[in-house]
Amino acid sequence: MITNKTLKLSLKSLREFAKKKLTDQELIDLDARDECPIEIVRELCNPDKIGIQLLFIPEEFGGMGGNTFDVYCICEEMARIDLGIATSVLATFLGSDPITVGATPEQKKLWLSRIADEGILFAYGATEPEAGSDLGALRTVAERVIENDKIIGYKISGNKQWISNGGVADAYSILANTQAGPSWFVVEKGAKGFTHDEPEDKHGIRLSNTAALALDNVYVNADRLLGGVEGQGLLQAQAVFGYTRLMVAAFGLGAGWAALDRAIPYSTKRIQAGAPLSEKQGYTHKLIVPNVARLEAARAYIEETAERIDAGEGSLNTEGAIAKYMATEAGNFAADASIQALGGYGYTHEYMVEKIKRDVRITTIYEGTSEIMEMTISRDRWQLHLKTRGQHYHDQAKKFEELHARHPNVGAGSAAVALHALAEVMEKARLARLTRYQHILFRLGELIAFAECAGSLARRASLMAENKLNEKANRRFDATTLAAISRVFAREAALKVTQDGLRWIVGGGGISDADLDTFARRFASAAHRAQAGLISDMDFVADTLYGRAQRASAA
Ligand SMILES: Cc1cc2nc3c(=O)[nH]c(=O)nc-3n(C[C@H](O)[C@H](O)[C@H](O)COP(=O)(O)OP(=O)(O)OC[C@H]3O[C@@H](n4cnc5c(N)ncnc54)[C@H](O)[C@@H]3O)c2cc1C
Repeated sequence: MITNKTLKLSLKSLREFAKKKLTDQELIDLDARDECPIEIVRELCNPDKIGIQLLFIPEEFGGMGGNTFDVYCICEEMARIDLGIATSVLATFLGSDPITVGATPEQKKLWLSRIADEGILFAYGATEPEAGSDLGALRTVAERVIENDKIIGYKISGNKQWISNGGVADAYSILANTQAGPSWFVVEKGAKGFTHDEPEDKHGIRLSNTAALALDNVYVNADRLLGGVEGQGLLQAQAVFGYTRLMVAAFGLGAGWAALDRAIPYSTKRIQAGAPLSEKQGYTHKLIVPNVARLEAARAYIEETAERIDAGEGSLNTEGAIAKYMATEAGNFAADASIQALGGYGYTHEYMVEKIKRDVRITTIYEGTSEIMEMTISRDRWQLHLKTRGQHYHDQAKKFEELHARHPNVGAGSAAVALHALAEVMEKARLARLTRYQHILFRLGELIAFAECAGSLARRASLMAENKLNEKANRRFDATTLAAISRVFAREAALKVTQDGLRWIVGGGGISDADLDTFARRFASAAHRAQAGLISDMDFVADTLYGRAQRASAA
């Protein structure tokens, strides 16, 4: 268990370490040289120095036993510093996951204690040249080595692709096919027949080492099969998806905010047409405020999911997918808008936002691409829609109508509009069997993510107003501002679900002309009416961001 005080101290020491060792110039130079600063990564993982890995190792193995919420906070902070270095640290975390989830007590003691005490670096070897999103296509094999009718070891052969820490790790979790199916093995560096390629020359996260691995009859003893039972590999990988996707979600969030936190101060100093850019609505309301709203909606979903995982609700894979999808897409938009916000300066290396944009690009690709997230979200919620005979999102919407009655200012009314519209769109899709179109199935995933995040942010704003927010939760904004941010996002979600939903239903031939008019009257007009007050709420959020005397909000 980590107290709030300890967590805040860890975050502070991370920031101070970065301030000293990872100045902007240092980061720019390392990025230009395409160099992984391995000594910095090792210092971060050295228990006598920063020892950041201790946070995610259970106390019984010498760690601090941080929970999901703690790890989210640390991941966000690391991403604000540098996403490449954050990836390197996360690789140890990912690599140790199959151990935490599936290893025998002896294996856990051996490997988790070594990560805690010695700060050894792990890599997570799942992806292959032919097996990316579809891990089932895995070709690496682990052949049994038998002596006196007993399995004494395995010989592993195959290739792994895009492995973070691939060229610098001390130990590797490797997914390989056994007779009984995919299984995780630990392979140590230097094992005979085990080699890695030169680091990849990447678009972004150039401070992280990414390398292909080759295994040519690499022998490991039988006790390197994690859990001691063959065929558990995919289950072990799936058991932590909710958790690990939340960490990458925190990366998107941290990187997105890192970019905005450069654009916001820049715009107060840059004078154009006689006034700072920060005074210009056409600038703030396009480039800054909507990105703040999307990032904070994603944060609300991340925090809620982290709390639920910590409360023992299971691995919450779909919620992890929604958090990752929203936060990483929002992080990318925010970083791109930040380049625009700095104009020509934003397009140069010196101002950092272009590096952040290149770095954050990976977050919609690794740990499951955005398209795979859309599929995961849509398939799962589609089942809920069917099971409840179309009522699932109507029921959710009713809860937000109740919340709106108690807290009329937190955007719950617009969130309810989004959720009702979502239920109707899904029902129309069911009646016309539109999920036979993969594109519509995936687009539904996007709409579901927007509607659920609008709900989460409204709930978070209400908890903040009642002073009931988790003590470790981010408190950048006060209750009034968070409520305004929530209203801005909920309006976007209501409009998006209604307009895009209708677009795909009409596009798939799923609605008659007469029905279209009814639907448009009921839901589209509600979504349009929900936009009332949008401009004054955006003014209010901009005023808060720029520390100006606030005009009245729409609430
Ligand atoms: C810098 C970096 C670091 C990485 N680190 C690691 C690591 O440490 N360990 C590890 O195991 N892996 C790692 N990866 C691999 C990463 O997880 C994969 O790249 C990712 O899962 C996608 O697989 P792929 O590259 O083969 O793309 P593909 O799976 O070939 O996908 C290509 C495109 O097709 C889309 N697509 C795929 N399947 C479908 C479908 N069924 N329907 C519709 N569209 C689809 C995808 O969304 C994507 O847009 C890393 C990758 C990079 C680039």
